[in-house]
Amino acid sequence: MEIKGLLFDKDGTLLEFHQMWLHVAQGAAADTLTAYAAENNHHLDDVALLAAIGVHGNDVDNHGLLASNPVEDTADAWYQLLQLSSDKAQFSRTVKQLFNKQVEDNPTLIQALPGIKAKLLNLKQQGFRLGIATADSKDATLYSLMLAELIDLFDFVGYSDGDIAPKPAPALLHAFCEQCDLVPQQVIMFGDTVSDMKFGRNAGASTIGVLTGTATEDELQPYADTVLYSVADFNSDLLMTITHC
Ligand SMILES: [Mg+2]
Repeated sequence: MEIKGLLFDKDGTLLEFHQMWLHVAQGAAADTLTAYAAENNHHLDDVALLAAIGVHGNDVDNHGLLASNPVEDTADAWYQLLQLSSDKAQFSRTVKQLFNKQVEDNPTLIQALPGIKAKLLNLKQQGFRLGIATADSKDATLYSLMLAELIDLFDFVGYSDGDIAPKPAPALLHAFCEQCDLVPQQVIMFGDTVSDMKFGRNAGASTIGVLTGTATEDELQPYADTVLYSVADFNSDLLMTITHC
């Protein structure tokens, strides 16, 4: 079936991931500890909070919560770790606000990866429908796509704000199809994590892994139809090999 839709993860796939999210996570962990200092009876530090979401020093685990999951899952993990007695839903809202604040306080860290904007423009001119499927929240997603000057290129922007099942559940890909009048077999999902690849396959789409984010080629290969270094390396000549047509 002819490919007509290209759906992209955001961070590590279109936007620089490491520099930004490491900084944001470090800041949000420190701010969370400050906000809940009175209840931190076990004197946990930011190293423990960061380890719980897959951040170890400067390394970010591609299977960890920071790389692959919505911020609500980070809040759940931190709530359990801190063994808080205060309201869990309020804690989750606070953590989400602290992450969003870190994103908005660090606009210079939000950058499109090399060659991405030109490639997306080119693909749009070829007639592909373009979409985003991210585990990031609505506010941070729209803000970062606007700052990176990419937002006008997309027919669909799907985020995880607690109102739709996050990746790897197929709901965001089905929403893209509905918006663009496509079926999943006409879509390629691009992403930098195993979760992105599982998401594409769960929905019935083709998958392309990229190495501009957190995962290695060996990690992505079993779940991807092909692995490229970057979305910037994609061209329509690859469609024949990916879709087996
Ligand atoms: Mg990513």
